[in-house]
Amino acid sequence: MSSDEVRRKTRGLLLMVVAPSGVGKTSLTRRLVADHKDLHLSISATTRQPRPGEHDGRDYHFVDNAEFDRLLADNALLEWAEVYGNRYGSPKAPIVEALERGDSALFDIDYQGAMRIKAQLPDDSVLVYILPPSLLEMRRRLEARSQDSAEVIAKRLSRAKDEVQAWSTFDYVILNEDFDRAYSDLAHIYHGEKLRTGRNLWVEPLVEGILGEGLD
Ligand code: GDP
Ligand code: ADP
Ligand code: 5GP
Repeated sequence: MSSDEVRRKTRGLLLMVVAPSGVGKTSLTRRLVADHKDLHLSISATTRQPRPGEHDGRDYHFVDNAEFDRLLADNALLEWAEVYGNRYGSPKAPIVEALERGDSALFDIDYQGAMRIKAQLPDDSVLVYILPPSLLEMRRRLEARSQDSAEVIAKRLSRAKDEVQAWSTFDYVILNEDFDRAYSDLAHIYHGEKLRTGRNLWVEPLVEGILGEGLD
């Protein structure tokens, strides 16, 4: 069986990566999608203002409050949540389309959103929590990213202690100290989850074929 056939007959999963702001989830998730063509990154709609360097449609769909209300009224979001004073939501249609193709979906979303998706699709959801080496290092990274005001950074750091306590309800936990190591851990989780027997619909016909084969 060719790897393209295997891909088409693999049931995709929803991989959710959660961490407090500044831990490195954007860097980790962007690299994971760049390296895996069968993984679709969910681009969220948000009412937050774009940061310098962020592009509409690539990093987020930047919308105003009225447009966000319309998305809610149209039932176009798989989940949504208010995070650090802004609304964020995951558009449903691209996820349904990715799963119908046999692809998987990757979400860079907050704890509440991850739990809401898991409640809707418990068998296909995989939840990964990323931890920073320390609060001080988180502050250093947020300041080094230099895209948020001092006030926004302070607001995000003040929530970090509450947020890190969520780790124990997740399927996997990764320490993002050394980036390459953390990335390798994330990629291993993705590969391992795809090998779960229930997701691999190509196994049954293959085994049936083997059982029907003669040796000469
Ligand atoms: P970052 O944490 O520095 O990446 O800052 P952002 O402003 O990009 O995101 C703030 C928070 O909102 C993070 O915890 C994101 O994971 C979360 N978030 C982004 N998109 C969504 C979404 O579609 N739904 C939910 N529930 N949370 C989201
Ligand atoms: P998040 O999306 O969780 O807010 P980012 O991916 O934007 O985090 O990372 C925050 C900053 O920290 C970025 O400037 C990023 O380059 C940097 N960073 C990410 N991982 C590491 C790491 N392991 N060591 C040092 N810096 C890192
Ligand atoms: P790619 O063409 O991107 O290397 O592979 C497409 C997808 O099919 C990858 O996610 C890869 O892991 C998966 N894949 C390829 N060959 C096999 C295989 O023999 N078994 C399983 N389980 N997955 C495979």
